Amino acid sequence: MSRHFASSLLAAILSIACAGTALSAQNPLPTASAEDRAMAREIFKQLIEINTTDTPLGNVTTANVAMQKRFLDAGFPAADVQLLGPDARKQNLVVRMRAATPTTKKPVLFLCHMDVVEALRADWTSTDPFQFVEKDGFYYGRGTQDMKESDAVLVATFLRLHRDGYKPNRDLILALTADEEGGHFNGAKWLVQQHRELVDAAFVINPDAGGVELDHGKTVAADVEATEKVYSDFQITATNRGGHSSVPRPDNAIYELTTALNKLAAYSFPFEMNGVTRAYFTNLAKQEKPQTAADIRAILATPPDMAAAKRLGVNPEFSSNFRTTCVATRLSGGHANNALPQTAQANVNCRIFPGHSPEDIRKQLIGLFADTKLNVKYVSDAGDTFDTAPERKAIVPPTPIAEVFEPLTRLTQTIWPGTPVTTEMSNGATDSIYYAEVGIPCYGYSAVALERDDSRAHGRDERLPVDSYWKALDFFYSFAKALGSE
Ligand SMILES: [Zn+2]
Repeated sequence: MSRHFASSLLAAILSIACAGTALSAQNPLPTASAEDRAMAREIFKQLIEINTTDTPLGNVTTANVAMQKRFLDAGFPAADVQLLGPDARKQNLVVRMRAATPTTKKPVLFLCHMDVVEALRADWTSTDPFQFVEKDGFYYGRGTQDMKESDAVLVATFLRLHRDGYKPNRDLILALTADEEGGHFNGAKWLVQQHRELVDAAFVINPDAGGVELDHGKTVAADVEATEKVYSDFQITATNRGGHSSVPRPDNAIYELTTALNKLAAYSFPFEMNGVTRAYFTNLAKQEKPQTAADIRAILATPPDMAAAKRLGVNPEFSSNFRTTCVATRLSGGHANNALPQTAQANVNCRIFPGHSPEDIRKQLIGLFADTKLNVKYVSDAGDTFDTAPERKAIVPPTPIAEVFEPLTRLTQTIWPGTPVTTEMSNGATDSIYYAEVGIPCYGYSAVALERDDSRAHGRDERLPVDSYWKALDFFYSFAKALGSE
């Protein structure tokens, strides 16, 4: 779900970007043949038309069985195409392309979620979200941006590499998983926690984040997500014995709750930076107008200038990138117009800066509210409430590793010449968190080019430029090969 929260947030020019390689002129990327494109389009269509929402109509297993069949038909050994998961409708598929010879080199994991967010025909302008429609240079359908385009690209890539007789120097793994968008059976998490041997890797490439930003057709930047905030919901509840509203008392569930929410509204979590955000702001200072540039330099100083941070923080995008944020998003309370409220409840949604756990933040909220009558519970992604929150923390970003960024940069610049490759911290969240927390570096990159103002993930009339699909297909064929050859 991340890329569309991530775009244009935080980007840092990577100095690692293989200084001025002349490769693009000498080694044009192999492009997919007409038959390969037809196959890749067919897979994409098939996936869009299998409903994988977390609803009674949706079924991730159906999609993964269809992909399993393709791999088995192509001659992958059954043992290397495993369908597994804790729920019959939420089976994950793990495909392994084995190294030519046994090696101690750890595999590369491509992590892709197969589920999509619900979409209603009535909300879409002219197409059915679960029909793959090509129109005016776009593919329409639920999941064309998030992330069946990447699922299809990776499936097609593995099939093509296999057909071409490619033998990597290390195992390449593709995991197609359930419940990234919600639901009780997050497949990425389940696999790494229950079947680490199947998905253990030197690093993860997660196309659910990052990508190429276009501005009126011109490429602006290629963003690689190197870290992300942790998503957490908290349920704040005030309860009261209630009574008749003709005899009000000072104690009142609604007033107690709103007092707490007003404290939250006035509060800012502390200013923070990490390697990714620091590099981003350092670069941004070179491009911004003088006052903003001066403020940015001031927050990069040691110690950071808090007055400058405050001025910059007026921009919500800046503010959310240098602190944890928590905001009230839902409110309910009372049960009758003429009764004192017995309950008042709010949802507070937090995006937690890497390095803090949801439980840290829950405790900070309790401290901020300073009202023992309030109950602050954690709400899981599946909507269940708990007295305490997870202790897991987003990992502070790993140093960009050359074996990922060298080919990523080289291939990106071959397809989109002159486009800077940058790293970003996403304000959203992906399944990468479960791998980052067991120490596997994760990089979010889809190689999908989208207009900055055409993010439609989770929304209506989701669509992908046909040309972007072909470019991602070409990118991943060469990228997987490059990673597998290291
Ligand atoms: Zn997604």
